Amino acid sequence: MPRQSSVTSQDTDHPPAPTDADWHALDFSGAREQLEAAGPLTDAEVTARLASYGPNQLPETSRSGPLARLGRQLKNFLIYVLMTAVVITAALGHWVDAGVILAVVVIQTLVGFIQEGKAEQALSAIRHMLAPKARVVREDGQHQVDAAGLVPGDTVLLEPGDRVPADIRLEKCHNLKIEEAILTGESEAVDKTTEPVDPGVALGDQVSMAFSGTMVATGTGRGVVVRTGAQSEIGRISGLLATTTTLKTPLLEQMDRFARILSIIVILAGIAIFFGGLAFSGLEFRELFMAVVGLTVAAIPEGLPAILTITLAIGVRQMAKRKAVVRRMPVIETLGAVSVICSDKTGTLTRNEMMVTALVAGGQRFEVTGEGYSFEGMVCQKGQPVAESVLLAEMARASALCNDASISNRDGASVIHGDPMEAALKVFARKAEFDIDASSGDWPRVDEIPFDTRIRFMATLHHDHHGHDVAYLKGAPERILDMCTQEVTAAGDTVTMDHKVWEATITEMASEGLRVLAIARKPMAGGARSLVVEDLEQGAELLGVVGLLDPPRQEAIRAIEDCHNAGIRVKMITGDHALTAGAIARKLGLRKSERVLTGKELDELSDEQLKELVGEVDVFARTSPEHKLRLVQALQALHGVVAMTGDGVNDAPALKRADVGIAMGVKGSEAAREASSMVLLDDNFASIAAAVREGRTVYANLRKAIAFLLPINGGESVSLVTALLLGLTLPISALQILWVNMVSSVVLAMTLAFEPPEPGVMKQPPRAKDESLLQGFVVWRVAFVSLLFLIGIFGAWFWAMHRYDNAAMAGTLAVNTLVAMEVFYLFAVRYLDTPSITLRGVLGTPIVLLAVAAVIGLQLLFTYTPWFHATFGTAALTVESLIFATLAGVAVLVLLELETAIRNGVKKVKAPAP
Ligand code: ADP
Ligand code: MG
Repeated sequence: MPRQSSVTSQDTDHPPAPTDADWHALDFSGAREQLEAAGPLTDAEVTARLASYGPNQLPETSRSGPLARLGRQLKNFLIYVLMTAVVITAALGHWVDAGVILAVVVIQTLVGFIQEGKAEQALSAIRHMLAPKARVVREDGQHQVDAAGLVPGDTVLLEPGDRVPADIRLEKCHNLKIEEAILTGESEAVDKTTEPVDPGVALGDQVSMAFSGTMVATGTGRGVVVRTGAQSEIGRISGLLATTTTLKTPLLEQMDRFARILSIIVILAGIAIFFGGLAFSGLEFRELFMAVVGLTVAAIPEGLPAILTITLAIGVRQMAKRKAVVRRMPVIETLGAVSVICSDKTGTLTRNEMMVTALVAGGQRFEVTGEGYSFEGMVCQKGQPVAESVLLAEMARASALCNDASISNRDGASVIHGDPMEAALKVFARKAEFDIDASSGDWPRVDEIPFDTRIRFMATLHHDHHGHDVAYLKGAPERILDMCTQEVTAAGDTVTMDHKVWEATITEMASEGLRVLAIARKPMAGGARSLVVEDLEQGAELLGVVGLLDPPRQEAIRAIEDCHNAGIRVKMITGDHALTAGAIARKLGLRKSERVLTGKELDELSDEQLKELVGEVDVFARTSPEHKLRLVQALQALHGVVAMTGDGVNDAPALKRADVGIAMGVKGSEAAREASSMVLLDDNFASIAAAVREGRTVYANLRKAIAFLLPINGGESVSLVTALLLGLTLPISALQILWVNMVSSVVLAMTLAFEPPEPGVMKQPPRAKDESLLQGFVVWRVAFVSLLFLIGIFGAWFWAMHRYDNAAMAGTLAVNTLVAMEVFYLFAVRYLDTPSITLRGVLGTPIVLLAVAAVIGLQLLFTYTPWFHATFGTAALTVESLIFATLAGVAVLVLLELETAIRNGVKKVKAPAP
């Protein structure tokens, strides 16, 4: 395939750089030279390159266009039946029948078309929210940008769990391993280097490159973008980005199956009735035929799938507004059943706005003053500023150098880049008078061991200009203490370390809820060029420990309380110290039991023992990602529906295993996002609680839509079958049934998709995991209300016949009575489990009132205008008849109110309050 802009000469201005070369064979500076990008790009360069190369995106698979969408609407059993009916009635010369049925087909198709379009819009909007990100270094520093904004020449950083955002020539690698199965089919991760390789080698051997779409398994890297979008290797293979999100959930599939089975039954019944009728009843062909068409329309809940879909789409949109983006549709249903939420601590339950507030070094404790990430503040002791000391200066240097964060100043406020804890350490170093800007020039970093939750520390190797080589370390205090035998005194001498004293210090600081971090150094042999974990295991010198304050999120405290009220247990899973975790949990109102289980203790428990303990304990500390998987499994074994949060690559298995895997949108890796079923845009625990609430609401609305629509079909079809079997005139004609089902019922049912949460949604325990919507209560409700509708329809018919002896009037009244009962039933259905006749219930929502007004208007047209009389065979009704219809509606509401009260009474007797 020819590549765009393969210009290699320097004489053209634009495009500024070639996108085609054997980049893997070039040495790094050669690549940069060809790309005309000696260093980070400026904004102007990025804009220009974006204009000539286009966005770094693969074209999307053409999502079904309007025509395909229209076609899908026509592929529907009911439409086939109706079209057949159109043809037959037209052939028989019944033009009115044919015209009405055809109109219904058109309306049904259009409504489906528009609704599906809306649902697709909702989905593509959330797809956009999940656009992949990239870490890029531009002239003004390090940024997180949409990967689509990358251009050839950009400098990109890679971390474990990242999806490589473009084709990149690597410039720095640290243990970088990339999983390239998507390109090469090879599942083992490939070791990357920065050395050029032979020009002729296959893709899998181009180890100096990182390819777009592949996944960083471990290590870190940095490199320059050489190809973007469709020019990249992945773009050339597939060319297209598959985006196949559909609104399919188990419930919808269950409904589809139900509708299919129902259709088959209906069609068989229709055929039997038709031929039976021809043979035995005196009915003429047209009448019989229309009766069968009427029965088909009556029995098949044609409006239901569309309403369920739209309810889900609204739920998805509502959740996205609350910062929870659904990645897999079935999760909307699962969310409502969640009984345990396992949450990370840092950043989710706490604000992740860290500040060093305390420090212990040389046997003394100091405070650090100031607010947030502002540089104002200093190191004090008992309120008095302390004099500079060699030890403090060394701690400040270690804090600033063993650090990847940076702080810039925008409009007078500090903006941090990178890990908030590291940023806090930089601020501390600055407050301790260390020049954080000059540091990288004076003490260049030669090598590093990046932080990893499994090793719980980070180390960097530096040379100064006097030939001193030193490694600085920071990390979890137990970890660092174990590496140290010596400590540094205030005067800068090294003496033997007293382990016990330090442990007491750490315990004290952690119990205050501070995140404790130890800082150490290790003098290295002259000329050391690389760091490995094993070399650091011994001989380090402890400089001191710092305590960082990370306040709990206020909204998380409230959300945890909401969850507890809703019968949902919240568990904190953190890599932090047990005492710190315990102190924060207490502040969050989270602990039901005092017990904190650590990762080490977890390792010693058998699965059985864990299952016994896991229900009790709410705080898990010093855990690593592997523990999360065990916890999910143990909780699921206790019949819990488990939501689990995660951000790192190693969290992926637990996220996949959990019933609801929740990835962090801000600090989460791409790997975690892809394993998750939901992404939190703000990493905030409160958003999880909001999503659960939304999930419960959606589920309730689906249940209401089903409970509302099915009895209408039930009542109508039972009425028709009864009439046919007893040889009575049909109380409602086929065309009238079309009217009720396609117009009034759909307008009324549509409001249920917009129902706000009921006031008690978060006051009830979660529903049982295996509870199906199409059993138990809903089945009973459908049967009961069908019966009420049947009685109403026949009651109206007989009453009107008796009174007026006019079949047209009787039929019209039967229809109006049915619609009136629907209207009142709508009010009953809005509060399925609590009383409906309340001020709030009667006032309704604007949408409900609007729909009711529309339906009343339509029924008046239906009843009183000549055109409708001629088309639907209706007749004007007396006021008395309208009152009859209304009273039938009121009766339905009152009866259902009684039913709800009785059901609630039974429930109370069955489950006495604990
Ligand atoms: P959390 O669940 O609180 O996010 P992590 O697993 O991220 O915990 O971190 C576990 C421990 O590792 C922390 O308590 C801290 O002691 C240490 N740690 C965290 N981040 C770093 C870092 N960037 N450098 C060194 N040590 C770190
Ligand atoms: Mg963390």
